Amino acid sequence: MTATLKDSYGRAIRDLRVSLTDRCNFRCFYCLPHGEPPIAPKEEMLSYEEIEYVSEIFVSLGIQKIRLTGGEPMMRRDIETIIEKLARLKSKGLHDLALTTNGYFLPDRAQGLKDAGLNRITISVDSLKRDTFKQMTGVDVLDRVLAGIAAAKEAGLDPIKINAVIVRDHNEAEVTDFAAFAREHDVKMRFIEFMPLDSGHDWSRDDVVSGREIRERIDARFPLIPLDVARGSETSSRYRFADGAPGEIGIIASVTEPFCGACSRIRLTADGQIRTCLFSTVEHSLRDVIRTGATRSEVVEFIEGVVMKKEPRHYINDPQFVAPSRSMSFIGG
Ligand code: SAM
Ligand code: SF4
Repeated sequence: MTATLKDSYGRAIRDLRVSLTDRCNFRCFYCLPHGEPPIAPKEEMLSYEEIEYVSEIFVSLGIQKIRLTGGEPMMRRDIETIIEKLARLKSKGLHDLALTTNGYFLPDRAQGLKDAGLNRITISVDSLKRDTFKQMTGVDVLDRVLAGIAAAKEAGLDPIKINAVIVRDHNEAEVTDFAAFAREHDVKMRFIEFMPLDSGHDWSRDDVVSGREIRERIDARFPLIPLDVARGSETSSRYRFADGAPGEIGIIASVTEPFCGACSRIRLTADGQIRTCLFSTVEHSLRDVIRTGATRSEVVEFIEGVVMKKEPRHYINDPQFVAPSRSMSFIGG
C-alpha cells in the first residue's frame, strides 16, 4: 500500500519542489529584480548526496512527484547527477520527475538532462518579443531560450510546458500569441498570475492580470474547451483548442482563484529548509536535522511533524497579508 503524508486538514502531500540553488543568471522584475543578496556559503546548501538522501525518505513517505527548481537550477553543475540519482527513485514510488528552468542552458544541455533520466520540462518564457523579453527578464536572450525549447524537443523531453507570468502593461496583449505558439509547436502553455513573491516587494494588485481575463482573451481568438480531467491538486485549470489544434492552455490563478483546499505541495529550499506553503513565514530546517546525526526514523518523525503544520491557505487577499521575506527565487517556484 502507498504511504501517505497527511497534513492536519487531511490533505495528502504528494508533491515536493526542491530548489537546487538561490542563484540566477536572469533578473526577472517579478522575481529577482536586483539580483541575489550575498550568496550563502556553499556549506549551507544541500549537497547532491543530501538531496538524494532526503528525497528517498520523502518518496518512502508517499511523495510521488519531485520538481527541481530554483533560482536557476541549471546553474548547478551537478544537476545531471542529481537527476540521475533521483530518477532511480522511480522504482520506489516516484511517478514524476520534472524541472523548471529559464531555458538559457538548454541549447547545450537538454540532451544530457534527458540522458540522465528527466522525462519532462517546464521552460519559462514571458514574451515572444525581444524587447519585452529583455525588459521583463533583464537579459537579451530570447533567441537562445527559443533555441533551448527546440533543443528540449529534439532531445525528446515530453511534454514541454511553457510558463509565462502575465503582468499588466507588460505582456497581457501577448497571451493570444502564446496560444498561437502552443498550437504551432504542440506545447502546453501555463499562464501564471503575478504573485507577491518579488524580492523588490513592488507587487501591486493592479499589476495582476486575472486568470479570467487571460482565458477570455484567448477564447476570443481560439475558442477553448475545458479539459475533461479531474483537477485534483493541480495548480492549473486546463483547456484544449475547440478546433482540435495541438497544444494546451493552462491557467494558474493563485491570486484570484486560490486552490489551497486541494494543495498537495511542500517545498525544500536550497539550504535545506522545508516550507509548507509558498507564503509561509516560518521554515523548518531539515538540513540541521540530518546534519546532527538524526536517525532515519527521527528524520521521518521531523518531516511528519512539519507537514502537520501546513497552513490551511494563503492570505494574499486578506487586508493583513504580509509577503514572505524570501522571494520566489529562494523558495523555489
Ligand atoms: N529559474 C527558473 C525559471 O524561471 O523557470 C525556475 C525558478 S522560477 C522561481 C519558477 C517559476 O516561478 C517561473 O516560471 C517564474 O516565472 C515563476 N515566478 C517567479 N516569480 C513569480 C511571481 N512573483 N509570481 C508568479 N510567478 C513567479
Ligand atoms: Fe531567475 Fe527564474 Fe526568478 Fe527569473 S523567475 S529571476 S529566471 S529564478
